[in-house]
Amino acid sequence: MRPSIMIIYTGGTIGMIENPETGALEPFDFDHLLENVPKLRLLDIDIQTMEFENPIDSSSMTPSHWQEIAKAVEENYDKCDGFVILHGTDTMAYTASALSFMLENLDKPVIITGSQLPIGDVRTDGEENLITALQVAGARDADGRPMVREVAILFEDFLLRGNRSTKHSSDNFAAFSSNNYPPLAEIGLGIHFNTDQLRRLHTEEPFKVNYGIDTNVMYIDLFPGIQEGVVRHLFSTPGIRGIVMKTFGAGNGPNDPWFIDALREAVANGIVVVNISQCSNGSVMPERYTAGLGISKSGVISGGDMTSEAAITKLMHLFGCGMSAEEVKNDMRRSICGEMTVADISAQTHLPFS
Ligand code: ASP
Repeated sequence: MRPSIMIIYTGGTIGMIENPETGALEPFDFDHLLENVPKLRLLDIDIQTMEFENPIDSSSMTPSHWQEIAKAVEENYDKCDGFVILHGTDTMAYTASALSFMLENLDKPVIITGSQLPIGDVRTDGEENLITALQVAGARDADGRPMVREVAILFEDFLLRGNRSTKHSSDNFAAFSSNNYPPLAEIGLGIHFNTDQLRRLHTEEPFKVNYGIDTNVMYIDLFPGIQEGVVRHLFSTPGIRGIVMKTFGAGNGPNDPWFIDALREAVANGIVVVNISQCSNGSVMPERYTAGLGISKSGVISGGDMTSEAAITKLMHLFGCGMSAEEVKNDMRRSICGEMTVADISAQTHLPFS
């Protein structure tokens, strides 16, 4: 049986064309994309397509677009073997992270890809990325089941877990990396799956979409010399419920009493503050230095080795599910769908993922 894969086109460079008057890149009609890749017809895959009514540059992505993608997956879940989402690279890691939380009990591939050069460009990377994404989505294991059963990003030479990915280059074809988790597959002459790294569900519960998203969240990025007034102003942002605080090294910050007091007050006011390292590789270990100890004693919780994209979308998702601050804190410490490394298996989520 040929796998049936649905391509969902949301916009981004992959489907862009140069406006002859302004010289700027603009999204174009999806039919144009298929015309530009006649090789698609050579794949042993039944391809179905749908597109956003107004394809967008991914810099304009909002949670309502995530909901639109999730709805398209939900409506076509039973009739398709997998999904390929064409998306701009700028916010691809956010969409991948958000979808990984929204698509609960996902048991089919949702492969997100895009390109650095428009698909109509002679040197485009879009054609290869699209074809490989379709092959990955159509790949099956020895039992005939989809090889990939999670949200993943396919870019250039690697298939990466979506909620572990980050865009690291605005210029290179190899634009994405997963610094704290091995690639799910390496793309060379063949597609080499790292089967031990692929997520597998251990539940019979049906697939369902969690549409709730709460956007009352924000980042605070520390830097030497950050002022008390600025920090206090940010913490008193009206309506804010969750903050991802990007800290130095292994989760450290200034030891000034005003800083620790401001953190304590924010936590006492019911704000969930999550400690994520500014380093792209490694985990926060706030108990390692005195400079981190104050932060963790103030009630800030460790985000482990999560990417900042995963941490902020996880907060949006958990608050969006209607959880209290305490419940959000508990789930932030657990791995819902492979977004963080949890050393102690007893700290794994109640959700039945490996
Ligand atoms: N600005 C574009 C976008 O994210 C860049 C790209 O597609 O790679 O939609």
